[in-house]
Amino acid sequence: MVDYLKFIVDNNVGKLAKWLRIMGYDTLFFDGSDDSGMIATALAEGRVILTRDTQIMRRRVITNGQLKAILIKGDDPEPQMYQVINTLNLDCQFRPFAICLECNQPLLERSKQQVKDLVPPYVFQTQSQYMECPACHRIYWRGTHWQAMTKKLESFMKG
Ligand SMILES: [Zn+2]
Repeated sequence: MVDYLKFIVDNNVGKLAKWLRIMGYDTLFFDGSDDSGMIATALAEGRVILTRDTQIMRRRVITNGQLKAILIKGDDPEPQMYQVINTLNLDCQFRPFAICLECNQPLLERSKQQVKDLVPPYVFQTQSQYMECPACHRIYWRGTHWQAMTKKLESFMKG
C-alpha cells in the first residue's frame, strides 16, 4: 500500500485528474506543451507523471528511476483509471472530500450554519457535513453525485 502519492497529469489523460482528486490525491493538471516544464515540476514536487506520451517515458530521469511515470494505455478514461489504481495499489477511500475537484486545493471543513445561504434548501435539510474550497469557494457535500462517483471508484478497485 503506497502511503501518500502526488500526481501530475498530462493533458492527453486529463480526465484522470478529477478521479484522483475525488480519491483525495493531490493532482496537478498539466495543460502546457512543454514536457520539460512538466518534468521539472514533477521532480521539484515529487509527483508521479501520468501520460500517454512515449517520448516522455524515454527521458533519462524516468528511465534511471529518479522520477516515476506511468505510461497510460487506451483512450477510455475508465480503464485508464483502473490501470493507475492497480499499478500503484491506490486506495479509493484514501481521503474522500479532501481536495477541490476544480482547483486541487485542500478543502476546509464548514459547519451547517456557515453554508446555510450557500447551498440549495433541500441540501441544507438533508446533509450535515460540508467542505469549502478556499480558492473557488465551491461547497462540497456527500450528495448523490458524490456517492455515484465513489461507487464507480469502488468498482475500479474490484476490477
Ligand atoms: Zn476550488
